[in-house]
Amino acid sequence: MITPQGAKHSGPARRGLALPESHRGSLAPVSAAPELPYEGVSYEEEPVNTGYLKAVPEAAPGQTTDVVGRPMPVFKKPPLLDSHGPARVIAVCNQKGGVGKTTSTINLGAALAEYGRKVLLVDFDPQGGASVGVGISPYDLDLSVYNLLVDRNVNIGQVVLKTDIPNLDLVPANIDLSAAEVQLVGEVARESILTRALRPALSDYDVILIDCQPSLGLLTVNALTAAQGVIIPLECEFLALRGVALLKDTIDKVEERLNPDLQIDGILPTMFDSRTLHSREVVNRVYEAFGDTLLQTVIGRTVKFPDATVAAKPITAFAPNHPGATAYRQLARELVSRGAVR
Ligand code: ADP
Ligand code: MG
Repeated sequence: MITPQGAKHSGPARRGLALPESHRGSLAPVSAAPELPYEGVSYEEEPVNTGYLKAVPEAAPGQTTDVVGRPMPVFKKPPLLDSHGPARVIAVCNQKGGVGKTTSTINLGAALAEYGRKVLLVDFDPQGGASVGVGISPYDLDLSVYNLLVDRNVNIGQVVLKTDIPNLDLVPANIDLSAAEVQLVGEVARESILTRALRPALSDYDVILIDCQPSLGLLTVNALTAAQGVIIPLECEFLALRGVALLKDTIDKVEERLNPDLQIDGILPTMFDSRTLHSREVVNRVYEAFGDTLLQTVIGRTVKFPDATVAAKPITAFAPNHPGATAYRQLARELVSRGAVR
């Protein structure tokens, strides 16, 4: 059973939002993470989690390796932070749809929030999947990321909403955002509009995760310009590999021309099916091409993810003990151990 023990947070009233009071955000998230939000969940180092394989055949007895045979370290539970900010901005990006961007943004964000990180999710897809996934209806929004981009008088503090997960806030999106791409084309410094819009929030969060839409257009370039890191979720199937080279090209161009700080934090295999050789071959090919940019955590395929989406909750809250929740917690710890998140 899910027993969130965190205090319900309340924020100052915001103008005009047709949402329950409890969802109205502020730029200073108030509740500290309870150290163990869910009873009976292990937040400590799990021995290994490679798409829910306990051990892969190549591993020596008693030794665990990841899918490609690298020794699997124990990613320690990160110590709680005693102060917060400035945030590191990470874009979750892949121009292919349905690869697990939104799922990864929500669940990585929720896992980091459980570890006491103050997390802001930026829904940057007109589909509004990240908003829906944390229980915010895109239809009820008065202000969204669209207003933040196109109206200089709207600041991020007016747009941030709290979610039911302690330490996890959201900048929501809805279909309005689809107009922004066209509207922003004529703007001065059109690639850095999101960078400017996020700036006032940096000091309030430890990490800002941007859920990109499936394209390499101006909005995605804005996300890559605002970010220091990119996480690339990659569905474990061969067709998925082709797109990564193109994405890498775009990331390189943005780094060269707009954002010299940009780096790829990791490629995250998703929808890994441990029963098929195919999944494993895809991950091996990624490793051949990209080396240790390939993360060691692998997200297995399970219907619990769509189930959690229907319930409008991160899997870490919907099924806190499910291996899918465990996997995203491990991803959070791996990213902290790599220095991608403080
Ligand atoms: P994207 O944001 O890249 O379009 P989503 O995160 O929305 O992708 O995922 C697409 C669909 O696949 C959703 O229905 C989601 O619930 C499902 N899904 C995501 N990750 C997994 C997984 N590991 N196993 C099974 N289904 C998944
Ligand atoms: Mg999505």
